[in-house]
Amino acid sequence: MQAQATEARLKEDILDILTCCINCRFCLPSCPLFEITQGEVTQGASGITRALYYAVKWNEIDREVLGELRNILYSCMTCRNCEVACKNLSTGTKLLDAIEKGRELLIEKLIGPMPKQKRTLESLYLYGNPNDMLPADRQAWLSGLNVSSFGPETDVLLYVGCTAPHDLEAQGMAFRLVELLKRAGIRFGIIGDEICCGRPALDMGESGEGGLFEDISGKNIARLASLGVKHVVTLSPHCFDTFRNRYPEEKMKGIKIQHYTQFLSDLIEKGQLKFAKSIEKKVVYHDPCYLGRYNSIYDEPRRVLESIPGLGLGEFARAREDSLCCGGGGGRMFTDFEAEIGRLGNIRAKEALDAGADTIVTACPWCKINLVDGVKIAGIEESVSVIDLAELCMKAL
Ligand code: SF4
Ligand code: SF4
Repeated sequence: MQAQATEARLKEDILDILTCCINCRFCLPSCPLFEITQGEVTQGASGITRALYYAVKWNEIDREVLGELRNILYSCMTCRNCEVACKNLSTGTKLLDAIEKGRELLIEKLIGPMPKQKRTLESLYLYGNPNDMLPADRQAWLSGLNVSSFGPETDVLLYVGCTAPHDLEAQGMAFRLVELLKRAGIRFGIIGDEICCGRPALDMGESGEGGLFEDISGKNIARLASLGVKHVVTLSPHCFDTFRNRYPEEKMKGIKIQHYTQFLSDLIEKGQLKFAKSIEKKVVYHDPCYLGRYNSIYDEPRRVLESIPGLGLGEFARAREDSLCCGGGGGRMFTDFEAEIGRLGNIRAKEALDAGADTIVTACPWCKINLVDGVKIAGIEESVSVIDLAELCMKAL
């Protein structure tokens, strides 16, 4: 009974949201998925959501249709470009809400997520991280880092997230950020046995009442409260957005949530962080979707870059609200979309060259991993390098 009621509510919500869409297709050119598949797979954002709309409206919910719908819905990288286009040019349809509810519906019907992502959800449930790491293995990267645990002697919780313990590119970011905060004299600590913020569960449709996201977020909220945390700084824009916008507001009251680029920008403004060395590079900043389009954080990372002596800051032709997604959002890092991610990274690497840059700077572990791959695939490693903002700051100290 409960399951049927949930399904009925989800269908009603999906139809409600998507009835606003007038199928003008102004969102179509903004969709990176459309760009890299030449529209073959999805016909862009309106194609994805029309497929969902008609499947629900006509009740075409047999397993075969649902299987195809699953492949379409889970291919969305949740970059939000379509919503911005629709808001600016048409009806302001909340496409991402519909896509998330569509994924939740497929989870209810035991069709979602994608086959590989099922293991991701299992891992989240069993170990508290999406990468199949036993809790002890997840902590292994900390050995030799000499970082305090969050406690009464510390003011700021550095929330590292699950990618750094698992991936060397992201680990480099975390190491540099830790060094940077130490050099700035910040009293900060981490949670050694930190668990995931829950974003991958949301991305895969485990977003409903009693679902995995509720379980994980509840555990984190209790942990933050028991430790008396008042200020969280995250490495990843995805964790930042999840804490800021997806955890219940009343439970997070009194806790300041910042992405590390905001925190560094504040330190520079207060004179607590100063750069002495000149970095003679021409850089472009790649706006991660979950900092930019989701949270309008465009200026802070650029302010940090502008404060580094010698650095030439240019812009991608597609920047800020118009930034091109790296392809890693929406749960895609946990399934087989590598070829598409490679194509996007490749486009972005070439766009950096067109902008006259020798370096792409970003501030997201997933963007960094994908852009590093993109530069390799484009075969332009000699001409363009990829670096995280915290890593660049460390070089300039
Ligand atoms: S721009 Fe908006 S109204 Fe037009 S097709 Fe896209 S979602 Fe629908
Ligand atoms: S969120 Fe991005 S990938 Fe998904 S439909 Fe919209 S524009 Fe396309």
